[in-house]
Amino acid sequence: MAKRFLTRFNPADLAVIQTDFLVVGSGIAGLFTALKASDYGVVTVLTKQGTMDSNTDLAQGGIAVALDERDSPQLHREDTLTAGAGLCDESVVEILVNEGPARVGELIRMGADFDKVEGNIAFTREAAHSHARIIHASDATGNEIQRALVRQCQCTSKISVHENSIVLDILTNRKGRCIGVLTMDRPSGSLRIYLARIIVFATGGAGRLYQNTTNPAIATGDGVAAAYRAGCQLMDLEFMQFHPTALSLPEAPRFLISEAVRGEGGLLINSRGERFMPRYHVQGELAPRDVVARAIWQELQEGSVYLDATHLGADWVRRRFPSITRTCMKYGLDIGTQVIPIAPAAHYTMGGIRTDSCGRTTLPGLYACGEAACNGVHGANRLASNSLLDGLVFGDRIVRCCIEEWMNTPFWTKEQIAPFEAYEVEGGNQAVGWAPQCGFQEISQQEISQVDQLPIIGDDRVKDGLGAAETIGNIQKLMWDQVGLVREAESLVTAINWLDAEENKNPSQFKGVAQVEAANLLLLGRLVATAAWLRRESRGAHFRKDFPRLQEPIGKNHVIMQQRINIK
Ligand SMILES: Cc1cc2nc3c(=O)[nH]c(=O)nc-3n(C[C@H](O)[C@H](O)[C@H](O)COP(=O)(O)OP(=O)(O)OC[C@H]3O[C@@H](n4cnc5c(N)ncnc54)[C@H](O)[C@@H]3O)c2cc1C
Repeated sequence: MAKRFLTRFNPADLAVIQTDFLVVGSGIAGLFTALKASDYGVVTVLTKQGTMDSNTDLAQGGIAVALDERDSPQLHREDTLTAGAGLCDESVVEILVNEGPARVGELIRMGADFDKVEGNIAFTREAAHSHARIIHASDATGNEIQRALVRQCQCTSKISVHENSIVLDILTNRKGRCIGVLTMDRPSGSLRIYLARIIVFATGGAGRLYQNTTNPAIATGDGVAAAYRAGCQLMDLEFMQFHPTALSLPEAPRFLISEAVRGEGGLLINSRGERFMPRYHVQGELAPRDVVARAIWQELQEGSVYLDATHLGADWVRRRFPSITRTCMKYGLDIGTQVIPIAPAAHYTMGGIRTDSCGRTTLPGLYACGEAACNGVHGANRLASNSLLDGLVFGDRIVRCCIEEWMNTPFWTKEQIAPFEAYEVEGGNQAVGWAPQCGFQEISQQEISQVDQLPIIGDDRVKDGLGAAETIGNIQKLMWDQVGLVREAESLVTAINWLDAEENKNPSQFKGVAQVEAANLLLLGRLVATAAWLRRESRGAHFRKDFPRLQEPIGKNHVIMQQRINIK
């Protein structure tokens, strides 16, 4: 069972910092929100490591946006809805595709430099897009965006970025309104409190739940876990996107081989040298990500799988994909002349903190955007290169929507924080329900089901006294083996039982980053496995061997999870 807080705290003993806007996370969603909010007030950005450490920095392919005159937001909308496999919130998708071009224009004016052909922006194509609409900065688009946003923040006197500040938990007042966060300073382990009139979580995804992932070390879903502990609703956690093509060499990390390689004509071949994708989908290599990932998983049962770009011309390939070329070269692989061994890896967290189209969570005072949030825009399967756009569009909307609330909200004081002892996690583990698309008002109609009655399946991996690093390694292996690309009831129940048992052994005081991350991963792993167990169908990125088909009417519903909190 989850707790309300990771660690005890007493506000009277802790330093307190006050600000107008508190943004947690320094990726595209956090920094863009911070820049927009700085037009109105003082902004403090908290980030777990260095400012550049984010998923954003690693993004390769680019941003999907309907800027080409032969393209249109409507076509972008259709492609997004098709990839989302019936679970996208159509009104939110409309917002993404219609507001996207203006936000990308602002990003360019902030200094992000995208590739051009004869003075015009160059577009490339990625899987499941009907048009070439991906703008890019070679194959290191995220690094260019991150660089531009960091530079812009450095030039904005109203923004200060506090590095190595790890948010542990959300603080509320006695009325249950979010008024601040409890943080841990990375080098010293000391606790601190930040209070703000508006708080935005842009803490990114949780790819690090899995043994094989393209995500960096920071992606442990801390913000989503903290929001859950505070009583916030989470949505669609069963949908984890596995990228089809990560480098698969024994000595190398799962470095992403961008979808743009297939967009430019790269082909997938199996150990017999056969191009297999046309057997699985009419769009071949450019089928939706979930389809390609499962096809590769299937082919991997019989031998290795490779991505072949050699027919595109060695020099052209090396010029078009310089970062991928450099990284593969480190392992003795020349992508201009050799095929690339690949395998799927956990890549993008579709589920997260439930928000409306203004980024409002179900906890008053708390907003969320980017990969940490789940506003329904990606449905069951994110369309390639839609996530950077998501961060821009919904970060901007948070600021536009919250201004009135910000003006009517006072500066909070530490005396207003409800003390540690005042919180009580309500009996029963959690509320798990189904909510139809759109709108929080409908949540009361949810069919509440308890998952406490899950059958216990024996698992001898539960041991006492594991260190945090070992626990994290075990969680990642368990999630990969039991809650990965292909799931079924038995494997999911095994995972839930193991994670639950481990969670109950967790320490009550957290002294280091690894302990915090282990606790967050244990909690999120259990919630992901539970949501996957509940969704007895296959849809988008969620594939159940025991329920291999879409099941309407489950299909139009989201799995909602919430821990019930009382404040005395
Ligand atoms: C290898 C790779 C390639 C990709 N390529 C593309 C692409 O081409 N196009 C596309 O659209 N998307 C791509 N994606 C996905 C995209 O990069 C991410 O979804 C997007 O960057 C998420 O942005 P964000 O701001 O929400 O989160 P992030 O960029 O991950 O930022 C999260 C921030 O939160 C901070 N944080 C986390 N926890 C805490 C805590 N407890 N306390 C304080 N701070 C915290 C982190 O340090 C970080 O600064 C790719 C992802 C990867 C991994």
